[in-house]
Amino acid sequence: MKKILVTGGAGFVGSHLCERLLNDGNEVICLDNYFTGSKENIVHLLKNPYFEAIRHDITMPFFIEVDEIYNLACPASPVHYQFNPIKTIKTSVMGSINMLGLAKRIKAKILHASTSEVYGDPEVHPQVESYWGNVNPIGSRSCYDEGKRCAESLFVNYHLQNDVNIKIIRIFNTYGPRMHPNDGRVVSNFIVQALKGEDITIFGDGKQTRSFQYVDDLVEGMIRMMNTDDSFIGPVNIGNPGEFNMLELANKVLELTGSKSKLTFLPLPDDDPVKRKPDISLAKKMLNNWSPVIPLEEGLIKTIDYFKENLKK
Ligand code: NAD
Ligand code: UDP
Repeated sequence: MKKILVTGGAGFVGSHLCERLLNDGNEVICLDNYFTGSKENIVHLLKNPYFEAIRHDITMPFFIEVDEIYNLACPASPVHYQFNPIKTIKTSVMGSINMLGLAKRIKAKILHASTSEVYGDPEVHPQVESYWGNVNPIGSRSCYDEGKRCAESLFVNYHLQNDVNIKIIRIFNTYGPRMHPNDGRVVSNFIVQALKGEDITIFGDGKQTRSFQYVDDLVEGMIRMMNTDDSFIGPVNIGNPGEFNMLELANKVLELTGSKSKLTFLPLPDDDPVKRKPDISLAKKMLNNWSPVIPLEEGLIKTIDYFKENLKK
């Protein structure tokens, strides 16, 4: 049985990861300041004696003895990470320094949840790990994008300078049950709007693309990455290469919910990437032939079912 720390464990992805790690027979400690996560996401795990939830902000140091650390703490939706941009940068930078310092001291392996946003508005398509990206360093998304880029640099340098056992994954847009209904990300927005019969908010002309990964596929990829040889540190893309534009996504959600909601067109936010799609050759090669197994329609149906229940509360 391994003792595993998950920062951001009460968030959307973190709660699924905690659940899976417990099911695999590990002891799990979830660290979260509940900024965007909630106790609701982990309440079903609290009865498990091998699960512990601690309220803590990772911008402050934290000490514990564990074997592995998954560093997920950071708001992920543009609406949330732009709410307090300085805090977002602190969470990525100071939070990473605190967790890397901990990993160094206790000799734990540490995996960092980086993002496809390090590629910014990409000029290389699909995105490969060797591409350095196209990020506006002073734009409205920079608190997140540059924070995550700095965190990658911190991880690599703690590895090179202090021999910390690190892993970096670059996560592409992920969706599924336990996304916050007001989180502002496109999949939750469209589903909640469709279920409530409200207008579906398309930003810009809706031709921008994203590649949507169901959360279980991500969790599988994360665990496989943590278990790779120490010599493989990444970064590695974890995402679903299926590429859809926002009009296609909206129409799919309307079809699957049977909703009569209308589309409404709103201005495109600053620096919104035009297209995004992962090249997952490296993940396939290094993560034991990992690739996503849940197609968009199947994942959307599971997520719609979740929101139908959630909206009744
Ligand atoms: P989320 O907002 O649901 O979860 C983030 C969690 O971190 C929340 O529980 C929040 O309360 C917690 N948190 C935030 N700041 C903290 C702090 N200073 N100290 C302690 N806890 C803090 O987002 P998510 O979608 O679950 O994302 C999880 C991680 O994966 C994030 O690091 C995010 O950047 C990364 N990621 C997610 C996606 C995606 O599409 N979901 C894509 C790329 C990267
Ligand atoms: N988007 C949209 N309507 C919404 C929310 C988002 O059209 O209600 C668009 C947004 O402009 C972006 C895409 O959907 O082009 C994905 O947005 P999200 O915030 O989910 O993720 P990110 O931009 O970080 O990839």
